[in-house]
Amino acid sequence: MAKVATIELARISAWGVVQGVGFRPFVYRLATKYELKGWVCNTSEDVKIEVQGESKDLQHFLKELQENVPPQARIEGISVTYHPPTDYKAFEIGHSIAQEGKYQLVSPDIATCQDCRREVFDAADRRYHYPFTNCTNCGPRFTIIQDIPYDRPMTTMRSFKMCSECQAEYDDPLNRRFHAQPNACPKCGPQLELLDARGEHISSSDPIAAARLLLQDGRIVALKGLGGFLLTCNATDNGAVRALRQRKKRPFKPFAVMVADIAEARKNCHVSEQEEKLLLSPQSPIVLLRWQSESRVCQSVAPNLKYLGVMLPYTPLHHTLIEEAGAPLVMTSGNLSEEPIAKDNDEALRRLYGIADYFLVHNRDIYARYDDSVAMVERDSVQITRRARGYAPYPIHLSFQAKQVLACGAEQKTTFCLTRDNYAFISQHIGDLENLETMEHFENTLALYRELFRIRPEAVAYDLHLEYLSTKYALGLAGRFKLVPVQHHYAHIASCMADNGVETPVIGVSFDGTGYGSDDHIWGGEFLVADYNGFKRVGHLEYLPLPGGEAAIKKPYRIALGYLLKLLGEDSLKAGLPFLKQTDLVEIDLVKRQVQTGLNSPLTSSMGRLFDAVSALINVRGEIDYEGQAAVELEMAAYDGSEAGNSSYPYSIAEWDDVSVVHLQELFSAILKDMLQGVSKANISARFHNTVAKMVCEVCQEVSRSTGIKQVALSGGVFQNRLLLRNVIALLESAGFSVLTHRQVPCNDGGISLGQAVVANFAII
Ligand SMILES: [Zn+2]
Ligand SMILES: [Zn+2]
Ligand SMILES: [Zn+2]
Repeated sequence: MAKVATIELARISAWGVVQGVGFRPFVYRLATKYELKGWVCNTSEDVKIEVQGESKDLQHFLKELQENVPPQARIEGISVTYHPPTDYKAFEIGHSIAQEGKYQLVSPDIATCQDCRREVFDAADRRYHYPFTNCTNCGPRFTIIQDIPYDRPMTTMRSFKMCSECQAEYDDPLNRRFHAQPNACPKCGPQLELLDARGEHISSSDPIAAARLLLQDGRIVALKGLGGFLLTCNATDNGAVRALRQRKKRPFKPFAVMVADIAEARKNCHVSEQEEKLLLSPQSPIVLLRWQSESRVCQSVAPNLKYLGVMLPYTPLHHTLIEEAGAPLVMTSGNLSEEPIAKDNDEALRRLYGIADYFLVHNRDIYARYDDSVAMVERDSVQITRRARGYAPYPIHLSFQAKQVLACGAEQKTTFCLTRDNYAFISQHIGDLENLETMEHFENTLALYRELFRIRPEAVAYDLHLEYLSTKYALGLAGRFKLVPVQHHYAHIASCMADNGVETPVIGVSFDGTGYGSDDHIWGGEFLVADYNGFKRVGHLEYLPLPGGEAAIKKPYRIALGYLLKLLGEDSLKAGLPFLKQTDLVEIDLVKRQVQTGLNSPLTSSMGRLFDAVSALINVRGEIDYEGQAAVELEMAAYDGSEAGNSSYPYSIAEWDDVSVVHLQELFSAILKDMLQGVSKANISARFHNTVAKMVCEVCQEVSRSTGIKQVALSGGVFQNRLLLRNVIALLESAGFSVLTHRQVPCNDGGISLGQAVVANFAII
């Protein structure tokens, strides 16, 4: 007797990034392949599938469903239940179902895929040179979405009605553009327009070609990209780069460049296999690469630096603009100093007036501002220093079930973080919360995230610094939410733990420029024993004066002077130190008074400030244009200090009440001695880096002896210093520690909100 095949019906729910990434057509193709009947549809929380067929076919279907997902889809979870069969005649794609209170993950914007790129450069294709070409595997997502489910009417593409050809692609489940919400072509989609500095239309049949000529001619063009305007100019034209610096009032801050392809990247920088992979990834971030001396990119693009931020074209607009121009292009945020990146045409014309000579704009609105992400590969792992395009709003996975919490971040490089379920939704990089425009960006982005992920926080976490706008924002919510203050350096360490999914206690090394301490002093060179329930400060750099407070941060020579006076006394100033020769005597007297009286001279244990002080002291950098410049240039100097070998400077550690305080008098006097003996800046700097690494290891060993903890978490902006990071990890590992570093969120203040959110979650249990 022939065996009768069993017909079964499976109800499937798949969640994760499963919408706007070609998931339903993939399901459709799979169902067709196995001759299954039923349907698939999007809801506000998942993709629901009902399939009916022979059980062996169902099993194949389920296996492939999980193993062969489209490139941009990510299944976070799947559930399957079996039911008696019903009378399905075919397999269909159903309409989206919106559900109150439900949410799903939203895909970040994705760099142009190979298929779209091929079409854009195929003269016979109807999308030849069309800058808004995309498909379900690539293109804008987060920047155009206003709400979920992710359907065209919920995006800024709603104002473009598809032509019949585009509509046919959109409706065909077997087409790469099936339900690609931003689908468009030259006939029906967004269009480019070239404008002059005053916003007057410049007539041109090919605005990209016209812009390319302008760039070749040394002009500065503001380019509307995915998440806002970028200022661009020819990176091999020193005059153009200098003009851009002058107009942006940024003499030193490094600019990133976009190069046509990997071959061009290799002509300018050293590119490892890992770095190549990162450059070519769908996230397509700016990657900090080791710059070659024979590079044709002008030094003025990143003055005094040995690393260059490089990215590849990530939209068809960039591909078309650069592939035929050839030369690397500077691409820097379209803003004046620290305002958020301009996103609307009118806003750009107003705010970038006087900076850009021309504007290449288009009529597809940007809903969410979205900067380029910045990443580096260190010790074979990717570290993100600015997390935005390509990464946000994809969440970080938590090791526990979270409550609904909002964490407001700090001040510089701010992000906020919202938690629910086992997710931490960290916003894209918002910027320095120092002005109202950035605060508005913060509030608008927060409203969008709360809406997209349906989060109604029960607690709000914030930094102890009362002057931060993020703190003021949180305090303004008092009475409506439970407020949880979280100390800055503890938040850094908790962030690093969460980034690594670690809940057991760690020795946290939290090094940055400035953070408000629990004792009202400015912390920044901290050793903590911490877990999510709390922390104990077990070590720090000794307190030293910051003459003039905040003002000293922009003038590291003042810090050097203050530290010298405090540690070695006035006699040390008589040694004829080069950095003092440029300093005004009145200012020296002022600093002396501030150090003596303590007036307007707060105390700090900051490691960032120690780097600043040493940088100024040995005459590497006394005044800065961008945050961290003195320390960054000190690091650059150290790369040339090979004679220093493994040698280090002396320092001492004093124990007081179970707290190890690192004293720096011997360090400063040894550096002075080296200077007077004519040791090069490079070798002093290298030796200084060795010293800090040794110091970290020694304090950690001390703490480990009394606590038994063998796990060290490194966090804080100072660990963007790659040389220090490498040295510290090497020493700690050889001393038997396991070392946690950041992977998914920045070690700088861009990662603080994650730590705050995690701590708040444990505080409100
Ligand atoms: Zn594509
Ligand atoms: Zn069309
Ligand atoms: Zn910090």
